[in-house]
Amino acid sequence: MPSLQSVISCLSDYDPAALTVDQVSAIIADVIEPIRGVEQVAIRSALDRVLAEDVVSPIDVPAHDNSAMDGYAFAGAALASAGTNGVMLEVVGTSYAGDATELAPSATQAVRIMTGAVMPAGCDTVIPQEFVEVLGDGQRIRFAADVVRAGDNRRCRGEDLARGQAALQNGRILRPADIGMLASLGIPEVKVRRRLRVAFFSTGDELRSVGEPLDPGCVYDSNRYTLHGMLSRLHVDLIDMGVVRDDPAALEQAFRSACENADAIITSGGVSVGEADYTKQTMARLGEVTFWKIAMRPGRPMAFGRITSDGRDALLFGLPGNPVAVMVTFYHFVRAALHRQMGAEVPPLPLFRVRSAGSIRKRPGRTEYQRGLLVRGADGEWEVRITGQQGSGVLRSMSEANCFIVLGHDEETIAAGGAVNVMPFDGLV
Ligand code: AMP
Ligand code: MG
Repeated sequence: MPSLQSVISCLSDYDPAALTVDQVSAIIADVIEPIRGVEQVAIRSALDRVLAEDVVSPIDVPAHDNSAMDGYAFAGAALASAGTNGVMLEVVGTSYAGDATELAPSATQAVRIMTGAVMPAGCDTVIPQEFVEVLGDGQRIRFAADVVRAGDNRRCRGEDLARGQAALQNGRILRPADIGMLASLGIPEVKVRRRLRVAFFSTGDELRSVGEPLDPGCVYDSNRYTLHGMLSRLHVDLIDMGVVRDDPAALEQAFRSACENADAIITSGGVSVGEADYTKQTMARLGEVTFWKIAMRPGRPMAFGRITSDGRDALLFGLPGNPVAVMVTFYHFVRAALHRQMGAEVPPLPLFRVRSAGSIRKRPGRTEYQRGLLVRGADGEWEVRITGQQGSGVLRSMSEANCFIVLGHDEETIAAGGAVNVMPFDGLV
């Protein structure tokens, strides 16, 4: 695995006290390597897991040309020879779904066929039954030549997936459609990466846990709860280590235990610039950790690196303490990093431009992530408005939001009605 130092030394304009969001993302991406462990699981259990092999279709899907409608199958060439009475065909049998039909009608014959049934030899077209007039006692049918074209209402062998065709790629996070597709290929089990183990804890003497009395000057620890929620969405194994006091021995013990049991460690608090506590010192002593000031808001201070204990190592993300800053840095750095470590293709985040309902103050020279509510305006067009107070400690601004308003590094104040980039996050964090 490349060392943080070697990655950083390749950057010409590296300044830990003034990094852009893009620089940080690039450094993290360069340092991380995927975990190796792979396991074989039944496809139902593979949902939300990371595929660890390329899946190639072992069969043609569908395996035969078949009918997309209930109707009559015939050779489309008959349409060209239709008389003034339309097309007249003799019905010579029925093909049901699941039957291997042996019927082989001639150019003037048809076969009654059900949806999904195998097309009889020589037939390439199905006329839906509602267009057909049945004559006599079902021996003949008649229909207008212009209600169907040759080849209509037939599903071709292999049109979904041909044998040998790549179906799913290594690194894919498997979704319900993928699981269904694997089943359609007759594949009962696949190889997936083992689950990533992520340990997390909060630091700060002022923190109290839910269920404890709130002593004067204290706040309830909320970061561990948002982190628990965000990590759950990534389907990793969680190790919640609670609140760790700002005490060198307690911190060292917590970092070592996390390191020995997890692939990645996420902490919050104690990484602010000039903060006179032990979190930073302990992190730095246990491994290769850098402390960054990122040109972003919220989320400016962040520690990143790798620590070692008893021969095991783990990635470390020391997130800021402020509750919104935790979510923003998680969303913009940790999410991609953990996907990489899981061996997954990082799912891209949608970003698109909409109208801003009000004006938004912005200082150039940093990326800002305002919390927004994307709604339909009176004219039916989508527009975004800011969710109340935007302080980095105001978790309510995040709770009420359904998107980030991403104001780029060089952007300045936006006038009401101006265009801004939004990144919807419902269901993601
Ligand atoms: P710090 O970066 O440790 O100076 O923390 C910055 C701010 O975030 C302080 O007001 C802390 O009280 C608050 N804070 C830190 N950790 C948490 C937490 N786990 N839950 C809620 N607030 C926190
Ligand atoms: Mg603190």
